[in-house]
Amino acid sequence: MTITTRLDRIKQLLKKGNFPKFRFEQIRNAIYSDKISRFSQISNLPKSLKEQLAKELGDEILTVKKVHEMIGKQAHKVLLETADGHQIETVRLTYYLKQNGVRKIHHSLCISTQSGCALGCLFCATGAIGFKKNLTADEILDQVLYFIKNDMPADSIIFMGMGEPLANPDNTLRAIDLMIAKDGLSMSPRRLSLSTVGIIPGIERLTRDYGSINLAFSLHNPFNEERAKLMPITNAYPIEKVMTAIDEHLKVNNHKVFLAYILLKDVNDSQRHAKALTDLARATPDRLRLLHVNLIRYNPGNSLTPYQKPTNSMVEKFQAILTSYKIHHTLRQDFGTDINAACGQLAATYKPKQSPG
Ligand code: SF4
Repeated sequence: MTITTRLDRIKQLLKKGNFPKFRFEQIRNAIYSDKISRFSQISNLPKSLKEQLAKELGDEILTVKKVHEMIGKQAHKVLLETADGHQIETVRLTYYLKQNGVRKIHHSLCISTQSGCALGCLFCATGAIGFKKNLTADEILDQVLYFIKNDMPADSIIFMGMGEPLANPDNTLRAIDLMIAKDGLSMSPRRLSLSTVGIIPGIERLTRDYGSINLAFSLHNPFNEERAKLMPITNAYPIEKVMTAIDEHLKVNNHKVFLAYILLKDVNDSQRHAKALTDLARATPDRLRLLHVNLIRYNPGNSLTPYQKPTNSMVEKFQAILTSYKIHHTLRQDFGTDINAACGQLAATYKPKQSPG
């Protein structure tokens, strides 16, 4: 599918009006770098061009606008609305790191690719509200630009907000193009991470064309039958087939792939699950070398889902099994739970389409 972005439309407009080429640069800079929010505020453009831009695209530069924001201890969540009235959430996370004795602050932006989601994973607040729409490439990019324009740049971008990025692949990948383009945000692809529930054609596309981007597979259960109950997408893309696509990704790109695992009390936090996860992660030398398991304690959040947080003792036992089998793993810090901005908690102000449980 060919995606036409705001910049494509601006190029067409300039060509049609026979404007000199440097005008494009001026407009591009205003979109990407300047702190202004309206085309009519671009001071170095002739009035007639500003009027034409506003007529063609509307006067607002960004395709999303802020409705509400919540600022927690380490998470800043913004509720944004698209021009056609759909809501999405974007979260900026702050990490305090210490590297070689030097303290560093790292800001990561967790962005959405869809409003709502059709895939209905049972632990996910976004899944509970159902599908609203696929975001356009500009709406995906503009979540980043919103924060830049408000003096909150990001060191890294994670495609793990509302929606499944590879269920909206054309817009997501076009937004990635704009983020890494030299005349776009000029970000290194290594600073971008995409998390998927295992949409195989999308993973294959990433392996082929976007190998430098960090890939995470949201596994959450190593047994197909149990996972299918939790994540219906398993029926279309069973675990072993997704892992075969990941094996190819590891072979071609030779860098780390993450397995995300949300620990849900009495659902997937047993030693049986931990052992099966280690079997999966040790099945080939490449997996053992390059897979990294990210454990995440489930956050009950706004109670759109019926699950509970695992006990510390279960988490410790789970980790101990991974350690004993030399599986690279990390227990992620609990971020954003105070403002419902943690993993799987993004639901904007939508209500669930049916009562959970
Ligand atoms: S976990 Fe991801 S794919 Fe599943 S319902 Fe939530 S947003 Fe959709």
